[in-house]
Amino acid sequence: MSIKYVSTRGEKAVTVDGAIVNGLAADGGLYVPTELPHYDLTRFNTEDLVQCAAVLLAPFFTDSQIRVNEDFCREVFSFLLPLTPLQAESYLLELFHGPTLSFKDFGARFFAQCLPQLIDKPTTILVATSGDTGSAVASAFHGKKGIKAVILFPYGQISERQQAQMTCWGDNIQAVAVQGSFDQCQQLVKQIFRQPPAGIAITTANSINIARLLPQVLFYAYSSMRLSKQHGAPANFIVPSGNLGNVTACYWAKQMGFPIADILIATNANTVLSDFLDSGSYHAQPTRATLANAMDVGDPSNLERLLSLFPDFSQLKQSLNVQSVSDEEIKIAIKKCYQQTKQIICPHTATAYWRWLHADKNKLWILAATAHPVKFAATIEPLIQQPIPIPPVLAEQMQQGYDFSIINPSFNELVTLVTS
Ligand SMILES: *Cc1c(COP(=O)(O)O)cnc(C)c1O
Repeated sequence: MSIKYVSTRGEKAVTVDGAIVNGLAADGGLYVPTELPHYDLTRFNTEDLVQCAAVLLAPFFTDSQIRVNEDFCREVFSFLLPLTPLQAESYLLELFHGPTLSFKDFGARFFAQCLPQLIDKPTTILVATSGDTGSAVASAFHGKKGIKAVILFPYGQISERQQAQMTCWGDNIQAVAVQGSFDQCQQLVKQIFRQPPAGIAITTANSINIARLLPQVLFYAYSSMRLSKQHGAPANFIVPSGNLGNVTACYWAKQMGFPIADILIATNANTVLSDFLDSGSYHAQPTRATLANAMDVGDPSNLERLLSLFPDFSQLKQSLNVQSVSDEEIKIAIKKCYQQTKQIICPHTATAYWRWLHADKNKLWILAATAHPVKFAATIEPLIQQPIPIPPVLAEQMQQGYDFSIINPSFNELVTLVTS
C-alpha cells in the first residue's frame, strides 16, 4: 500500500514525486495525502531526531524515487531542536536553529534534498515569501545543480536582516523585490503556474509544496512524544500562524496518533481565519502589516488543506481554536516573557506566548518558537532593553553584500525576469 496525493479541489491522485514536482495541482488546489499513516510509537527513539524523522517520513515516500532514510534525514535535519522550559509544564519548541534561523529551514532543506532527485532538466523554483521562507529556500538551494531559485518578497515590508538573508547568495539564487504585498507576490506565483512561460520548467517552494509541509510534522511528533513520556500527559500546542501551513502539520501529527490534545492557533491582527469561523463565509482580506510580519497573510493558502481535514463547517469551527493577537499585545508578551523567564522571543512566538498567558498552566504546553529573535532585533531590543547577540551564521550572511531586482506586481515583468 502506498500513499497517494490528491488536490484539495478534487483532481485525480498522483504519486508523492508528482506532487512535489508539480507544486500546485493543475486545478489550482493543494496536494494532500489520501491517508495519514499510523505508527507503533515504540519504534521512535525520541533521543534521536534523525531516527524519528526517518521512521516518520518514510511511509509518505514508499513509491518515490527518493529513499527517505536516516542518511537522507541526517543531511536535512542537521541542527538542534531544543525544548526550553518556560515554567513547570510549559516549553518553548525552538524551531530556529537552522541556517536561516526560522522553522522554514525544516521544510526548505527537506524539499531541496528531494527535488534534484526528481528532475531531469534545468528547473526554476519560484517562491513568494512574507519573510522567512525566502532566506530558507535560498540557503537550501544555494549551489544545487540544475536549479535556479527566484525569491519574491514584498519590498520594504520585511526586516533588514530578513532581507540580507535573502539577497546575500548570488550564483543560482535570484532575489526579487516586488512593490506590493505578500498576497500579491503569492498571486504572481500562482499565476505563473496557470500560464507557465514556454520553454522553462517551473515549480514552487511555497508551503503549498507538499515536500515543505511533511517534514514539519516531525517537530510536533518528536516533541509531543518526548515530553508526554516525561510528563505522563498529552501535549497541547500553541502555533503562531499566517499561511496556516505549520498548524496544518500539527493537525496531521495529531491525526497520525501522536500524543497531542489541544491545538491553539495564534494569529496577528490579520483576522481572516477568525472572521471566517465567526461568520461562516470566507472572504480574503487585504494584508495588514504587523510586528509578526511572517504571518501577515490575508488569504491563507493552506486553509484549503484544513478544510479538507474538516469538510463540515461546524466540525471545522469546533476543531479550530483561533485568537488574533494585536501588536500591542505582542509587545507586552515579549516584555513579560523576558521579565518572567529570561527568554527572548520573536514577535511571532509572542503571539503564542500571549495565548499561553491565558491558558490553564496545569496542562503540558508546547509553544512553537518559530524564529530567532535576532531577526527582529529592531522591535525587540527597545522592549527588553538588552542587545540580542548575533549568531555567527547571521553575521556571515550580513557581511556577504547583496543583490536583488525590483519589479511592480506585474505578471509580465515577472515573466520577463524569469525567462531572461
Ligand atoms: C512562516 C512563519 C510563520 C507562519 O507559518 P505558517 O505556516 O505560514 O502559518 C510564523 N512565524 C514565523 C517566524 C514564520 O516564518
